Amino acid sequence: MSEPTRKPAQLTDVSMLGLGAMGSAPAAALLGAGRSVTVWNRTPERAEKTVARGARGAASLREAVTASPVVVACLLTYDSVRATLDPVADELRGRTLVNVTTITPTESRQLAAWAAEVGITYRDGAIMVVPDMIGAREGQIFYSGSREAYDAVLPTLDIWATSEFHGEDAGRASLVDLAMLSGMYQMFAGFIHGAAMVATMGMSATEFAARQAPFLSAMTRGLAAYAEVVDGGDYTVPGQQSLEFSDLSHLVRASKEQGVDPAPIATVQELISRQIAAGHGAEGFARIYENLRAARPTVRPEEGTAA
Ligand code: NDP
Repeated sequence: MSEPTRKPAQLTDVSMLGLGAMGSAPAAALLGAGRSVTVWNRTPERAEKTVARGARGAASLREAVTASPVVVACLLTYDSVRATLDPVADELRGRTLVNVTTITPTESRQLAAWAAEVGITYRDGAIMVVPDMIGAREGQIFYSGSREAYDAVLPTLDIWATSEFHGEDAGRASLVDLAMLSGMYQMFAGFIHGAAMVATMGMSATEFAARQAPFLSAMTRGLAAYAEVVDGGDYTVPGQQSLEFSDLSHLVRASKEQGVDPAPIATVQELISRQIAAGHGAEGFARIYENLRAARPTVRPEEGTAA
């Protein structure tokens, strides 16, 4: 297919692959900032709204990829990224690929290795906001991969959110992203478990949320103290809540007594019990970290921190 006539691509020109709930938001933010954007979506109808806002709709994936020096992929999974990009590897050669699809650190590294082999400058991005927050500085997007490419495209990336670079190892942004989401989902699961408990006495989840939200918010102040203990590796430092004091068997029991599955809190209790059984009951709650951590955190010399 012959390329339609258009103005030559500039460094700020972006081709956006994937116009789902998330992909549409960065495309709209770029358009709002006056950038030229070419869009492609597997189901073309989903791109129509963005085209109506001023984006150039590509007639094919190949056309989209060749329209801009910077190609952004916001698809669903690693498999969907590979299924989309593999057939246009030749066209991507020499361009900068920013993948903001949520994938695992290993998948990010695999994608970076594939990109290096093809001759694509690769950068992985992890979006830490919902679509409505794209275009505001309060939100964050983490990046890792080529530093040079990051610096070159930063003025474009900064239109979406506050950008944070995590290092040249492509997997790092994804690792931080998924670690953050781990905390978030366990908090939500804890809330939903609590809502199931109070529902047995007729309290609505809405009523419970009104109490739970400020309580959890206040409790997050404790994170820094736990972090200090974990980083110091000394669970005997005075002032910590001991594992014995933190025993949650009564909480598990209460849940069962109400006929509510204690699965989320039982998992926490299991970690506590393992440490107490190993003779560490007098040490701090943060010692459950010892159950969870990888045997030997890898330190990457070029990053200077554990990866
Ligand atoms: P949607 O389900 O709304 O969109 C998914 C997009 O991926 C669509 O464009 C879809 O195309 C495309 N897609 C899926 N499978 C394939 C495939 N095999 N080949 C080609 N295209 C495919 O999801 P979101 O836009 O919400 O999410 C996109 C990414 O952004 C995800 O990785 C998500 O984790 C991440 N993200 C989303 C957030 C959110 O709040 N929504 C927050 C942070 C990150 P089609 O329309 O044809 O189905």
